[in-house]
Amino acid sequence: MKSHYRAVVIGGGVVGASVLYHLAKFGWKDVCLIERNILTAGSSWHAAGGIHALNADPNIASLQAYTIDLLSEIQEESGQDIGLHMTGGLTMAGTPDRWEWLQSAYRTFQSIGIEDVRLVSPKEAQDLCPIMSTDGLLGGMSADREGYVDTTGTVHAYATAAKKRGAEVIEHNRVLELHQVEGGWQVVTEKGTIHTEHVVNAAGLWAKQVGRMAGIELPVSPLNHHYLISDTIPALEQLDFEVPMTVDLEGFTYMRQDQKGVLLGIYELDHQHWNMDGAPWEYGFELQQEDPDRIEKELILGFERYPDLQNVGVKTWVNGAFTFSPDGNPLVGPVRGKPGYWCACAVMAGFLQGGGVGKSLAEWMIHGEPEADVYGMDVARYGTFAENKQYIKETTGQFYSRRFVMTYPNEQLPAGRPLKMAPAYSEMNEAGAVWGQSWDMEVPLYFAPKEFEETPTLKRSNAFDFVAAECKAVRENVGLLDISAFSRFEVTGPNAEAWLDNVMACALPKPGRAKLAPMLAEDGRLKGDLTVFNWGDGSWWIMGSYYLREWHMRWFDDHMMDGVSVRDLGEDTCGFSLSGPNSRKVIEKLTDGPIGDLKFLGCGHFDIGLIRAKVARMSVAGERGYEINCRYGDHIKLRRMLLEAGEEFGIREFGFNAMLSLRLEKSFGIWSAEFTQGYTAAQTGMDRWIAWDKGDFIGKDAAMAERDGNGPAQLEVTLEIDAVDADASGYEPVWQDGKKVGFVTSGGYGHTVGKSLAIAMVNREVAAEGTDLQVHIVGAERAAKVIAPSPYDPSGKAMRG
Ligand SMILES: Cc1cc2nc3c(=O)[nH]c(=O)nc-3n(C[C@H](O)[C@H](O)[C@H](O)COP(=O)(O)OP(=O)(O)OC[C@H]3O[C@@H](n4cnc5c(N)ncnc54)[C@H](O)[C@@H]3O)c2cc1C
Repeated sequence: MKSHYRAVVIGGGVVGASVLYHLAKFGWKDVCLIERNILTAGSSWHAAGGIHALNADPNIASLQAYTIDLLSEIQEESGQDIGLHMTGGLTMAGTPDRWEWLQSAYRTFQSIGIEDVRLVSPKEAQDLCPIMSTDGLLGGMSADREGYVDTTGTVHAYATAAKKRGAEVIEHNRVLELHQVEGGWQVVTEKGTIHTEHVVNAAGLWAKQVGRMAGIELPVSPLNHHYLISDTIPALEQLDFEVPMTVDLEGFTYMRQDQKGVLLGIYELDHQHWNMDGAPWEYGFELQQEDPDRIEKELILGFERYPDLQNVGVKTWVNGAFTFSPDGNPLVGPVRGKPGYWCACAVMAGFLQGGGVGKSLAEWMIHGEPEADVYGMDVARYGTFAENKQYIKETTGQFYSRRFVMTYPNEQLPAGRPLKMAPAYSEMNEAGAVWGQSWDMEVPLYFAPKEFEETPTLKRSNAFDFVAAECKAVRENVGLLDISAFSRFEVTGPNAEAWLDNVMACALPKPGRAKLAPMLAEDGRLKGDLTVFNWGDGSWWIMGSYYLREWHMRWFDDHMMDGVSVRDLGEDTCGFSLSGPNSRKVIEKLTDGPIGDLKFLGCGHFDIGLIRAKVARMSVAGERGYEINCRYGDHIKLRRMLLEAGEEFGIREFGFNAMLSLRLEKSFGIWSAEFTQGYTAAQTGMDRWIAWDKGDFIGKDAAMAERDGNGPAQLEVTLEIDAVDADASGYEPVWQDGKKVGFVTSGGYGHTVGKSLAIAMVNREVAAEGTDLQVHIVGAERAAKVIAPSPYDPSGKAMRG
């Protein structure tokens, strides 16, 4: 062991070994991995080793596909056998809804370029997996690149391949302490102290403690998990092939062949957390006592699905723990305020995801950004609210039990809720608000009578008429939307303007004006679709997506300059948006300030009744509108005043479902759909806000190279879809005469224009208005046409006038 390394990886499980391998592969040779015990001594040694393609987040599914391709490479490179059994895989559905979902998921796979999947009938599935009963099954999805690996062999293969590339592995050496020092970290270990620029927390079951060593409270918890390995099954002895790795979605089980028996794993409803503060340091290679009673219900379903299990004994029980984050995705990346500290934790399926995690993190550490859009596993997708133990317990437990349960796009899950509520929450609740959650915050989705219950569905929801009525109110009259769940940052200091000018790609707004502001990474890809406000009194604001608060603050911190301070106002400031042709009449009743003179994108301070508010003339709905920002304490009063003033016009409260429909009719993009860190400004049309002739700004060179080159190969367009009872929601493939030409970024029903609409990222050759295309919606092919942007009010008269 040396006294200095460029990077130290803590943890010799599959994830740490993969990070080490990728660091060495991408050029950092002066790196080491430190393991408390021997390699694999955490969750990794007793995993089932299953690898399968399905993931609800298409970006994570792509990284899983990368891992699967990598496995044979590392076997070859290391010379270490990883026991790769590419048996193929099956995912089976037993209810009409689930079968519909699988058909839809199959199309999502096509969108993201995973082509080796196909839908199969129960009979075809049984031919592939003869020991499976098809009772109650409606269909399934078959994938070629699924199977299982030998877990210990795989960890050693990563580590050996890394060592061949110059990396070091140090076993039997626990990391005891971490100290942030000038230029990096001091790593105190049992065998001495190391200085390093970068430290990676890949401590698996001990990730919580290794986080705390650096003062970081990670939202992660271990949960227990069972599988059994059966004795030999005679029917399997008769086969000259291995049965596929099979997931029974209704049965909560996964199954793979293990020699001539099977391994059956269970995700039970009655889940059990294990050492929420992290595993004991002395925990070795022991397992927890099996508890068949707790998993009995799911076990019975498994034995019914694979009836041969009823006639053979159980050879081995495994009840071991592995880690989960609140949404089940890994926690990867740098931590705000801790330069040089990197996370590679909460990797729930390390053998399936470890390769993608290692690749992305190594790229991040070496090049400053990962190649793929990894927001779905970025540690900065959570804020301090997620440090709470009960929150972690509820959400990780919910994820575990729903591992194979499908979540509908219109379904709201209960764990960790309600947490943060805007002050007027109770009054909006009384008025019939139906709530969703953004980050920690309850947001109104729509307003309905108390007795109404929304049915979870992939198709149009039974809340359709409520949303339609809210859209109509906004378009024809006036609507009120709680916009507490927008992010707001205050930028102050003598260099505030210079800093904003460098961080944002747009020209900054003049005093009393606001401006749409693309924020770019150095490589020209998007980092934000923000709005900058120049309040006219020397103060500046940035507004954006609420759930990106921590993610944006990390970016701001990383690009800070002297003489600037950025304050997240998310705990102090909230507000309402008033939208519609009558919005001016309503707001004018409440102020004697010249609010009527406020031009589109004008902003300033106004007295609204008793409240001193910051008001901007804008509306995401594409109508005349005002965003009224107030202190948290003013929220209830502001709502009451606006509703009272609007009463004579028949003002109606609306929610974010209506807002999403209204913005789609204007072809306004939103983050995580039309705008992501995977796209450039030119691809998304954000380049029209770039001020090419201003001085330097982050991402300028890359954006100019794109502008002056051939332009992007794909562009975003608006589609009108000949849909019947379901609308596009995202990631549906777009075709032209059988050739895939793009995918939907988001979709929905445009209630004013009376059309099913979508925004899609398509090849430039098919982006012209009038091009006929096809889109798969919930598995069914529908005709679509490229239409001009903004099918509602294309001239923008309603919004600007
Ligand atoms: C029963 C079961 C079945 C599973 N089935 C599958 C499956 O089919 N497919 C799949 O992909 N995944 C499966 N998993 C999950 C898989 O095991 C984990 O995702 C994976 O092992 C996580 O790897 P890791 O490297 O993050 O953590 P770990 O394997 O826990 O490794 C962390 C390592 O860090 C070391 N360490 C911790 N603290 C320190 C310190 N302070 N100093 C030095 N070293 C330290 C530990 O000793 C340990 O070796 C299963 C897990 C279980 C329990």
